Formats: sequence, C-alpha cells, structure tokens
Amino acid sequence: MTAQLISGTEIAKQIREELRQEIEQLKAKHNLVPGLVTVLVGADPASHVYVGQKEKTSKDLGIYSERYDLSEKTTQKELIDLVNKLNNDPRIHGILVQMPLPKHLNEAEVLFAINPKKDVDGFHPVNVGKLMIGEPDYLPCTPAGIQQLLIRSGIKIEGAEVVVVGRSNIVGKPIANILLQKGKGANATVTVCHTGTRDIAFHTRRADILIVAAGRPKAVTGDMVKEGVVVIDVGVNEIGKTAEGKRILVGDVDFDAVKEKAKAITPVPGGVGPMTITMLMLNTVKAAKFAAGLS
Ligand code: NAP
Repeated sequence: MTAQLISGTEIAKQIREELRQEIEQLKAKHNLVPGLVTVLVGADPASHVYVGQKEKTSKDLGIYSERYDLSEKTTQKELIDLVNKLNNDPRIHGILVQMPLPKHLNEAEVLFAINPKKDVDGFHPVNVGKLMIGEPDYLPCTPAGIQQLLIRSGIKIEGAEVVVVGRSNIVGKPIANILLQKGKGANATVTVCHTGTRDIAFHTRRADILIVAAGRPKAVTGDMVKEGVVVIDVGVNEIGKTAEGKRILVGDVDFDAVKEKAKAITPVPGGVGPMTITMLMLNTVKAAKFAAGLS
C-alpha cells in the first residue's frame, strides 16, 4: 500500500478561502474588521520568519494587522504594560506574543496577562481549562489544524484508536484532549506516549491514527506502525542545508518506510505547518465575533 498524501497546503487553502469570505461578510454586514497583533521580542531568526508569515497571511485575508518588534532588552514590566494596552484596544481582537521569549522574561506571566478572550493561541490557562471540560472558546492552533486535516480528509475519528507521541503543552496534550472529547470529529480512544513510555512500538502498532510530535527525526519507523494507519507527522527537524543554503526539513516519522504501510500520511513540509497559521486566523475571526456579540 502506498499512502494517500494529506496535503495541509491544500486544506489550509480551502479554509483560508472560507475565512476570506466570512471576513468580507463581517465587514459588509457588521462593519467589523478582525484585528490581530503580533509581538516579537528580540532577534530570533525563526521567530522573525513565523511572525512575518502571520502578518502576511492576516493582510492577505483582510484582517487588520499590527506588529510590535521589541528590543531584546525589553523588561517584563514593559512587555506586560504593552499586553495590557492591547487588551484594552478595541481594534485588536487577537494578541499573539511570539514564543520563546528571551531568557530574562517570564513567559507564563506574560501569557497570563493576555485577556483570555483575546488569547487566539489558546494557551491561557482559562482556555486550556475550557478545552479540558469540553467547552472551548479557542482550540490551540496546531492541534486544531491536525483535527481539521483529519476531518477534511474524511478520516473517521469517532471510535478510532488514536496514539499521540509527545506530551507538550502546545501539541501532544491538547490534541489528545481535543480528540477524546465526546462529540463529532472526536470521541476517539486516545493513548499518549512520551520518553517515560515503556514500549512505544507496542502502542504505535495499535494506532488507527498516529500523531507524532516528538521533535526527533525517525522517532517512528516502518516497523512501528500497522498496515492502513493514518499518520500525522507534526515534527519539523532541520537536518542540514542544501548547496544553496536552504534548510532541509524532515518530520518525526521515517516517511519513506511508513508511507508503504499507511493509508494516509502528511508530508513535511506541506502537512501540519500550513494549518497552524490558518487556525490562528480562524481564531482571530472567532475573537472578533465574540467581541461584537455575534457568537
Ligand atoms: P517538545 O516540547 O520538545 O515535546 C516533545 C515531546 O515528545 C515530549 O513530550 C517528549 O517526551 C516526547 N518525545 C521526545 N522524543 C521522544 C521519543 N523518542 N519517543 C517518545 N516521545 C518522545 O516539542 P513540541 O513543541 O511538542 O514539538 C514537537 C515537534 O513538532 C517539533 O519538531 C516541533 O518543531 C514541531 N511543531 C510543529 C508545528 C507546526 O506548526 N508544524 C507546531 C508545533 C511544533 P518527554 O515529555 O518525556 O520529554
């Protein structure tokens, strides 16, 4: 069996088109323009790229976009003061502070300072708690993107054995939580593996749907999956550079071996990646509707 490719690029395009139309309608019918602000502290090159992509996508969809580029030397108080100002700015519906922050800053404190209604990343403890009890306002972007990849590819999640490799707060734990909720596009039996798991292959071989977010190339190899599995590879690992200096990226799954057994699999790049930013845009539209009392 050679796997069907689940193209995040294509599915993200579909969702962005739906969002573009919704944004046009919000403007036309309610004079409402969703607004997103990104805050970047310091000069981390990867963070610059991510923030640039978020800004470009917002503008492209008709979302009002602001960006703050703060010096590496920004103090905790300056950053919290800015977050408070943005919490009170009616043009801004979503606030994204790009992580990681420079070492001298307290990330948790900054995250807690964001108004949960403007927390379009879905990382504020109020939003994490609401997801936990099955009443989410915002789903965190990467896990929400994974769920959409599955739903829009026609993969049956209800009743499936889902195995997640990785338990980070941004991917592993929230995707496990999302897929075990009682409801459509979820209701799966979920197992979460990590470095303390005794026999990871025992679990991964049972998976109907395998989601891998370990941050390690080849964390999952061909002998660790069963025939007909659906694989979502979240990992992004740089394993070198081309002669032209372009980054060579691979996921966490041994793609060539696993695709021979899988029913469907996401590529890296072009799988989960494009979905993350798209779901941020979706959350921003949601935030604007909350603020305007439209949902
Ligand atoms: P993380 O915070 O480093 O967490 C990795 C998790 O995987 C940890 O829970 C760790 O276990 C577990 N783990 C590591 N190696 C393992 C192994 N060999 N077997 C089993 N479990 C293992 O990483 P993350 O933030 O979740 O990100 C994971 C990957 O996804 C990274 O490559 C990241 O770049 C990528 N990512 C992509 C997107 C996107 O939009 N495409 C978004 C977010 C992340 P312990 O808890 O026991 O240490």
